Amino acid sequence: MATIVLENLVKTFGKQTAVKNLNLEINDKEFVAILGPSGCGKTTTMNMISGLLNPDSGKVIFDGKVMNNVPAGKRGVGFMFQNYAVFTHMNVYENIAFGLEIRKLPHHEIDREVKAVAHLMQIEHLLGTNASKLSINDMQKCALARSMVTKPQIFLLDEPLSNLDAALRNIMRAELKKIQQELGQTSVYVTHDQVEAMSLADKIAIMNFAVLQQYDTPHNVYNKPKNLFVARFIGSPTINFFNGSYETGTLKLKDFSGGNLPVSAAYKTRVDEALQHDRTVLGIRPEHLKLSDTKVKGMPELKAKIISYEPLGSKTVVYLHPDANPDTIIKSAMDSDYEAGIGEVKWLKFEEKNLYLFDEVTTDLVLRFS
Ligand code: ATP
Repeated sequence: MATIVLENLVKTFGKQTAVKNLNLEINDKEFVAILGPSGCGKTTTMNMISGLLNPDSGKVIFDGKVMNNVPAGKRGVGFMFQNYAVFTHMNVYENIAFGLEIRKLPHHEIDREVKAVAHLMQIEHLLGTNASKLSINDMQKCALARSMVTKPQIFLLDEPLSNLDAALRNIMRAELKKIQQELGQTSVYVTHDQVEAMSLADKIAIMNFAVLQQYDTPHNVYNKPKNLFVARFIGSPTINFFNGSYETGTLKLKDFSGGNLPVSAAYKTRVDEALQHDRTVLGIRPEHLKLSDTKVKGMPELKAKIISYEPLGSKTVVYLHPDANPDTIIKSAMDSDYEAGIGEVKWLKFEEKNLYLFDEVTTDLVLRFS
């Protein structure tokens, strides 16, 4: 059993606030990703959990016990970093056994544990191989096995896959998830890669400029992003935003000559109640925005000109300028066989239930129309 609670954590370096009033509750056996752009405070948070850094204020609590004064080595935490922590002068067996030997476990126990974890990691056949001779993938598995063998209740992973190429990263991602589920350790995973966070984590803590923006499931951060930052950070290609205003049941989108978008009666009351300012940002994800050669019945006059496209195999992403603003770029994810003609003008179509409405002033989500 291992729960982690971060209570009002603050860490500054000189004038730089790295983590500001962070509150986070991580349940036993949960896999939580800390996600955000470079410099947002992910590693600092991780280092305060591990004990490598002391917070200026606030508490780090494991299983109800305040850990602030417990040194890193005594917190029962395992690590895995971007740079594989393996001894290249030792073979794989010796690497994995190292942590158990330090604890002076009997040899037969060490042998049993090393073989068990090597089996789990599918590197049994490499136990006699010198670590310097391993492929990058196997070296990372060896590092993982080294950390896992001591059976830490809490496992901290800081960008552990970022040195691997894309194909290996996918394989290791799937393996990491499987291993974590089998061992049931409470895990915290730092990454700036939203795909990695979405695919691995039970919950994602999204940070920006030292502040936690949203802490929720992958489903909710995609479907109900708390604000513009989260909506933009999650999803690929990134969400489309259209600035405008809201007046008595109609959204007026600046980028289109015919940009009057009536809000249906089903949503109007909710928008009226929730919106504090008239200035709005409408969000539509590229996968929900389709193109039509003719005006679609019931849709407003939203026209855009194709400027380029990317055939990605499973889909074609089409880039367009709205008819009243050549500085804005719209993305539409069309079927893979869509033939995009550069310079052609298309009508946009979408379902109201897929729209997101944000308050431009507060940047908060006002309504997801679903
Ligand atoms: P990255 O993804 O680039 O590793 P991060 O989200 O992990 O970024 P942190 O490394 O936690 O961010 O850094 C948060 C802020 O604190 C940054 O502005 C960074 O420059 C600053 N910072 C971190 N460690 C130190 C330090 N030891 N001394 C001074 N400033 C630091």
